[in-house]
Amino acid sequence: MMEELFLSDSYTNEFEARVVKLEGREVILDRTAFYPGGGGQPPDKGSLGIGPVGASVVDARREGESIVHVLDMAIPGTVRDLKGSLDWGRRFAHMRYHTALHVLSGVIWRNFDAKVTGGQMRADRARMDFSFPGEWTAEVVGDIEHLTNEAIAEERQVSIYELERGQALANPDLIRTQVNLVPGRVKTIRIVEIEGLDTQADGGTHVANTREVGEMEITGHKSKGRQNKRIEFVLQ
Ligand SMILES: [Zn+2]
Repeated sequence: MMEELFLSDSYTNEFEARVVKLEGREVILDRTAFYPGGGGQPPDKGSLGIGPVGASVVDARREGESIVHVLDMAIPGTVRDLKGSLDWGRRFAHMRYHTALHVLSGVIWRNFDAKVTGGQMRADRARMDFSFPGEWTAEVVGDIEHLTNEAIAEERQVSIYELERGQALANPDLIRTQVNLVPGRVKTIRIVEIEGLDTQADGGTHVANTREVGEMEITGHKSKGRQNKRIEFVLQ
């Protein structure tokens, strides 16, 4: 089984690994810090190399139990060990945006009874879709921005841990975020909890404390139907 270093420590940005499979521009390793994408968070980029051999990782994806690293050029098939290095500026931005999305999700639930239906993050912006039961006005959008920044500034701890499936299904916060949709074969569920605000089943990478998120600014919002709303934002 491949060791997924990003699950236990989001801040691992360099690592050493053995080659499990090397085929053209695609490499599978015994351990990796490269996030393969999922849950609205894009796959990591970076580099893999050893000595004079090196290539850029232009994409990563999950394939069964493995994570496949896609290189910009083939490396010799005789290579057995590789050092990996993430494009850390980009990944850290994804972490800040991912945590910001969860804060936003917690705030719109706590203050407006609104449920998230989707989200997408980039290194320089993010958006979130949700089902908003109340009236949708510019004033409400301003309130959402203000309340989210307040929650971020409270320097809330972000904890990551695992729960047995049964325990997770008994937690009302997790049911709200549809933990019941996690496939039945998954026996332990990874939880991301923002202290006192939001608890979700999540496989992504996050900052350790909301103080690392900075300040969010809503740059756009739209109504995509009676209840379906979208918010776009950037972080300062
Ligand atoms: Zn998430």
